[in-house]
Amino acid sequence: MRLTKVMQETHSTLDDALQVVLVRTTHPGNIGAAARAMKTMGLHKLTLVEPNGFPSAEATSRASGADDVLAAANVCETLDQALSEATLVMGTSARLRSIPMPQLNPRQAIARAQQELTGGGRVALLFGQERSGLTNDEIGRCHALINIPSNPDYSSLNLGAAVQVICYEWAMCGGGKARPAEPKSEQDEIPATADMMEGFYQHLEQTLLAIEFLDPKQPVALMQRLRRLYGRARPTKSEIDILRGILAKTLKGSSNGQR
Ligand code: SAH
Repeated sequence: MRLTKVMQETHSTLDDALQVVLVRTTHPGNIGAAARAMKTMGLHKLTLVEPNGFPSAEATSRASGADDVLAAANVCETLDQALSEATLVMGTSARLRSIPMPQLNPRQAIARAQQELTGGGRVALLFGQERSGLTNDEIGRCHALINIPSNPDYSSLNLGAAVQVICYEWAMCGGGKARPAEPKSEQDEIPATADMMEGFYQHLEQTLLAIEFLDPKQPVALMQRLRRLYGRARPTKSEIDILRGILAKTLKGSSNGQR
């Protein structure tokens, strides 16, 4: 009896740590369809970034009984707020993009997500706007891209359908029951959250400007490359603390930082 309870708690923790994030959704009906898709596959943690027209009767009607998922949805003004606790961020895209970043199919992506979750991390799966998908800046927040194999001449699924396919893979791979979470010996081994990484990138940019390594007229390209580099390394919180310590000393020592 007690064992069953403990196991259920472990499972619900894994489901709790997987977040479906809909970014700037235009049609409320698609938000409802996404909630329904999630609930049928055993997921419930929905985050909406700048949704257009939410809450709405259309979303509730399309959710068709998954209105508890809608009611509990976390509505955020910015993607950074939505991702603050995530340690692994993967973005879905109808097109394979020419970005040097791992591109996974749904099965590979869910396996990667389950690995992260069992290691104590938190995963966010991003879905873009109906017409334009995720912007380059939003993709810059991701560690990997997920592409649902489709007709090369007609590759764009409806948003709710794309959420369904990814959540179906989650259910097929055992969902939250796949592997019980292994307790970590040291909290430290968990990669830094997106929030910590954003703080680090701001600190890095400020320092690179102060030491005049970064050209203030063209800061974007270098910062994007550095984001990719550090994103690949998956630093832990204590490693970020070390890097920020180095930045703080560098800033203090630079003539611009002293002014
Ligand atoms: N022209 C846009 C299409 C957006 S469709 C683009 O190229 O991305 C809206 C959203 O549905 C996408 O942002 C993505 O989250 C999801 N989606 C649609 N088709 C997909 C596919 N084949 N693979 C992965 N995600 C897909």
